[in-house]
Amino acid sequence: MTTAYDVAAVREDFPILDTTVRGKPLVFLDTAASAQKPRAVIEAISEFYETHYANIHRGVYQLSADATQRYEGSRDTVQQFIGATDRREVVFVRNATEAINLVAHTWAEKNLQAGDEVLITALEHHANIVPWQMLGQRKGIRLRVAPVNERGEVVLEEFEKLLNDRTRLVAVAQVSNALGTILPLESMIELAHKRGARVLVDGAQAIPHMPVDVGQMDCDFYVFSGHKLLGPSGIGVLYGKLSLLEAMPPFLGGGDMIESVSFEKSTYAPPPARFEAGTPDIAGAVGLDAAIQYLQGVGIERVALWEHELLEYATAKLSEIDGLRIIGTAAEKSAVLSFVLEGVHAHDVGTALDQAGVAVRVGHHCAQPVMEIFGVPATVRASFALYNTRNEVDQLAAALRETLEIFR
Ligand code: PMP
Repeated sequence: MTTAYDVAAVREDFPILDTTVRGKPLVFLDTAASAQKPRAVIEAISEFYETHYANIHRGVYQLSADATQRYEGSRDTVQQFIGATDRREVVFVRNATEAINLVAHTWAEKNLQAGDEVLITALEHHANIVPWQMLGQRKGIRLRVAPVNERGEVVLEEFEKLLNDRTRLVAVAQVSNALGTILPLESMIELAHKRGARVLVDGAQAIPHMPVDVGQMDCDFYVFSGHKLLGPSGIGVLYGKLSLLEAMPPFLGGGDMIESVSFEKSTYAPPPARFEAGTPDIAGAVGLDAAIQYLQGVGIERVALWEHELLEYATAKLSEIDGLRIIGTAAEKSAVLSFVLEGVHAHDVGTALDQAGVAVRVGHHCAQPVMEIFGVPATVRASFALYNTRNEVDQLAAALRETLEIFR
């Protein structure tokens, strides 16, 4: 199916796409690691620094009031974008990793006891494994892992079997960064809630590529990073249901998160300020606001359709290459294509593709356990975004054929 999606117009909005690498036009296929930035984001950040910058929340002067308004305005944009019912449910953090650690150090620290269980899946990014292991070491909590099948899909029956009365938290990705699998969240959340467990969704790989509505999803926490969402690095979001955030102790102590301080005792501000100690990434929030507005301007549904077309096209193209094996063939996939070339190490493939100007990610993608399941130390991962084209897929395929020629 073709859509009237104007990818050439979208590409014009991204200055970096005009770059050449080793004398060749850049073919950027590593958006799953971090997205490139549209001019609207770059300009919003420089305009903010040039004409509106000051520290927020404290100043009595106009510039500080302006900067505060922009920072808080970004919170409103995020609230509306993810379908949160209350702006206080949106906490600005550095990235998805920090958001997960925040929940582990506050909500989980307070609510979980020795013997309780946290259930994750075999597809998780290290950011959604290690904080729970560290919590486990601190508190004697057991980490359980729902398996995946040979296509890289979570097996719902297996997931359900692992839920029990000790399961206090289910922490799962919405989309796997290593394989692109879209997880069956609706069923998983319903099953978890039936057992009385809370659910944290790692939306880092989902939110740039599909409409997200945390209210409809009914997750308890949702986390993502701005840099994968066309925004700047250094800003991310923790969404939490207000009743949960209100009952959570603070994470970091310092300015802005307090109500009152004396040497005897301090009291804490309500959310979201309670979780935003110190001067935040003010310009980052402004950039994130611009990124979301840009994406909404293009239309997230249209982006999702375009990326799906690219994924189908690329899957067909790469499947024709003798000696190439796609890792992760779930029925429901986001625009990520992981693969290995017979007899060629993934790092050599990455280096050879770089010679052709094609930027892909090689390695374990911070998801070592899932690599182990598929019996590969590393894969090559091409990931697609709103600015990629069929022509770029063709260039990837051609460069892969050349690589195979060289190494055979
Ligand atoms: N979760 C997933 C699924 C990811 O892909 C990533 C980034 N690769 C993260 C979490 C961590 O994101 P960040 O490094 O921005 O904190």
